[in-house]
Amino acid sequence: RNVLLKVKDLETTFFTEDGRVPAVDHIDFHINEGEILAIVGESGCGKSVTSLSIMGLVPSPPGKITSGQILLGELDLTKQSEKQMRKIRGKEVAMIFQEPMTSLNPLYTIGNQLTEAILLHNKKMKKKEVASKVIEMMKLVGLPRAEELMKDYPHQLSGGMRQRVMIAMALLCNPKLLIADEPTTALDVTIQAQILKLMKELNKQFRTAVLLITHDLGVVAEVCERVVVMYAGQIVEEAPVGEIFKNPQHPYTKGLLQSVPDMRYKKDSLYSIKGNVPKPGSIQMGCRFAPRCDYATERCITENPPLYELGEGTIHKSRCFLQETEGIGIAERVAEG
Ligand code: SF4
Ligand code: MG
Repeated sequence: RNVLLKVKDLETTFFTEDGRVPAVDHIDFHINEGEILAIVGESGCGKSVTSLSIMGLVPSPPGKITSGQILLGELDLTKQSEKQMRKIRGKEVAMIFQEPMTSLNPLYTIGNQLTEAILLHNKKMKKKEVASKVIEMMKLVGLPRAEELMKDYPHQLSGGMRQRVMIAMALLCNPKLLIADEPTTALDVTIQAQILKLMKELNKQFRTAVLLITHDLGVVAEVCERVVVMYAGQIVEEAPVGEIFKNPQHPYTKGLLQSVPDMRYKKDSLYSIKGNVPKPGSIQMGCRFAPRCDYATERCITENPPLYELGEGTIHKSRCFLQETEGIGIAERVAEG
């Protein structure tokens, strides 16, 4: 399959009163055309900053992309002006967020906002054509009685329906990539499942690649093909979804799996990984997971583990010294000092 988006050595830094904080610390990954890739991790691991970096929406100041490339085909998104990014957003790459209320304008009707979303990138389209496109898309995302719903305001809709509106809006310009940042976190479990099913169906139908950002491995199991696990700004594991569940390597991934609130993985008590994600930038030396890791040794505290590559046939990477006993190669050398 063709690569759609390639993130190379991306570093996104926040310049704060406490100093230079690399929220995303030299990460590499790619998304294929039509693929659903998940980035997983607890909050504060750099997932959202990664997606904002792709969208050109890192709040600046204090944030800034300080190294690397984000290649959409030949185009390096890190080199585009805000004006150029405005053309790319929505048309090439669209994004939906956890709480649709923050992205929908409470003062305009649903119909109004969906119409605007089309007109933004298709100024010459005829009114009638726009309206029929909006209604068609609303039906596709499972919004009933579309004609009437167009006259409603966002607050008149349920959370699940608002997220469907956001998905419709995101897909109206037929983007190549949809970034979904915790799209179902604010919804109750039944609605969550429906929205995930919808995203998967739309991915099949339109071949829109999806970058799903989530803290919830349960969500990942439902829809994704490949998983990237992030911890403290770094990628600590990457593998096809089946491998992540059957053969997880990194102690952090294992911890996340044990805390999935799902009968299949739950033991008798609800497990949670001890301790907290370190404040970005607070750990300078050694493995960032060491303070929380049951397997940590002396070496882990002083030496930063590289990303080991262990799969044959499939790509499976893990950033943990435990790989050295069975590891096959090193995917990346960590620059010393
Ligand atoms: Fe744990 Fe050491 Fe592996 Fe880090 S390198 S995850 S501290 S065993
Ligand atoms: Mg987040």
